[in-house]
Amino acid sequence: MTAPVEGPATDIIVVGAGPAGRSLAYRAAAAGLRATLVDPAPHRVWRQTFGMYADDAPAWLEPGAVAARTAEFCVFTPQRRAVDREYLVLDSERFQQSLSLSEVTVVASSATALTATSVTLADGSVLAGRHVVDARGTAGHRRADTPRQTAVGILAGRVGATDGGDDPDTTVLMDWRPADTGPNAVSSNLTSSGPASFSYRIDTARGRLVEETCLAARPPLGIAELARRARLRLRLSAPTGDEEVQHGGMDEIVDFPMYPNARPWRGDGALAIGAVGGLMNPATGYSVAQSLRAADLVVEAVAGRRDPRAALWPRAARIAFTLRLLGLLVLIRLRPAELVGFFDAFFGVPVPLQRAYVSSHADAPGVLRAMAAVFRRSPPRLKARVAVASARAAVEVVRLMVV
Ligand SMILES: Cc1cc2nc3c(=O)[nH]c(=O)nc-3n(C[C@H](O)[C@H](O)[C@H](O)COP(=O)(O)OP(=O)(O)OC[C@H]3O[C@@H](n4cnc5c(N)ncnc54)[C@H](O)[C@@H]3O)c2cc1C
Repeated sequence: MTAPVEGPATDIIVVGAGPAGRSLAYRAAAAGLRATLVDPAPHRVWRQTFGMYADDAPAWLEPGAVAARTAEFCVFTPQRRAVDREYLVLDSERFQQSLSLSEVTVVASSATALTATSVTLADGSVLAGRHVVDARGTAGHRRADTPRQTAVGILAGRVGATDGGDDPDTTVLMDWRPADTGPNAVSSNLTSSGPASFSYRIDTARGRLVEETCLAARPPLGIAELARRARLRLRLSAPTGDEEVQHGGMDEIVDFPMYPNARPWRGDGALAIGAVGGLMNPATGYSVAQSLRAADLVVEAVAGRRDPRAALWPRAARIAFTLRLLGLLVLIRLRPAELVGFFDAFFGVPVPLQRAYVSSHADAPGVLRAMAAVFRRSPPRLKARVAVASARAAVEVVRLMVV
């Protein structure tokens, strides 16, 4: 559609055409709202690989947007455990196309200032709307005190490698086994200096992706060290000259802050959603499924003339977010072996509790029950370490809440 740079007020202006913003604009238009989407490159093709639990996906997600689906996934902590929870990997390009913009007014521009009802564009013009939503992602957030998730992914087929583990067709959500178990093992994901990392292995539309991941660390684990560990796991030699230029031969680079804002519900300006708006789970770094679900909460509120911020952040959601933030700040204080023990306890609790912790947006009692269950399952030494780390993390959370 053509884009009036200034014009009559629209119902909702969404700034940022990543998964969060585009899905909101799409769902708003589908509900009959007048929606505008602003992004300097609104049709840039998404290259990231997006995974999610099937029970988190909204019912309206197009089946054609799914590249791979497994009825269960497995983890190695370090022993193998199958977890009975369906997992999806999206075909990013088809997923993007499925969020049709045919009924949305698309403005190809950068926003320079946002208020609750207006957006200033790079050329100085102003768009007005009943609601403005900030879905600009976290690319600009670089605070040193915020833990970051970093990862590197290699398409195993492209480099002629096997899976790097022994489960070639399975979704391996976390493999905490050492990357080098051979007789000459010297340094790996668990023993070398720096934070621990695990291997995440999934089938994607582009083939088998093997991703060496540091869930969260402060300071973050560097991309070069992750690439070294990924190569070690896949038994690959050093990158060639050309590959070196392309991020050390990696096919996917992940690097984002786990919580750009510790109180995303605060303020009365534009409502933030997606990774910048507290919809990234501080326990996992996942946000896409939550953003898709949140789109409908926001759309229903706007259509019903209710406050979308209140709809998205009831008290229970704010408490759940804060508890997960606490959990994250405990995790980054654990040593590598303790982290493995923590996840061994985590994946040993019943799936509904796992779900409460990593998925539900507003189930604060569920998050608390999950935390208590993981603590109970932990061995005594880990319990003691978690207790100490929790005390320190709690101080940090209080500080974050009062700043
Ligand atoms: C490689 C990678 C893999 C990931 N894998 C997963 C996964 O498997 N599952 C999962 O749930 N999460 C995953 N994540 C985390 C997270 O879900 C993604 O980062 C996701 O893209 C966040 O979506 P978003 O829409 O909030 O922000 P973004 O995708 O960052 O989109 C932000 C948009 O805002 C636009 N923008 C920025 N500034 C302006 C401005 N001033 N004016 C207008 N527009 C602007 C940008 O151009 C961009 O299009 C992954 C992240 C990475 C980097």
